[in-house]
Amino acid sequence: MKFIKSKKVRIRICPKCKKATLKTAVNVAGWLTPNIFECTSCDYIGALYIEINPKDLELTQNSDNEDQLK
Ligand SMILES: [Zn+2]
Repeated sequence: MKFIKSKKVRIRICPKCKKATLKTAVNVAGWLTPNIFECTSCDYIGALYIEINPKDLELTQNSDNEDQLK
């Protein structure tokens, strides 16, 4: 179990598949591109993302989040 201390904490989820598998994209030069995100689930890449509460994520996702152990 994990506890989020701050109420301000948000997590970014993919606007396409609604999964919390977004990560900061890396461009061809190997630099992180802070404004671009890519989704490892559906291959979405873009600057858009949905920001939600971690609590909401638990409600959104059912059982297919085994690949994001933190
Ligand atoms: Zn996605």
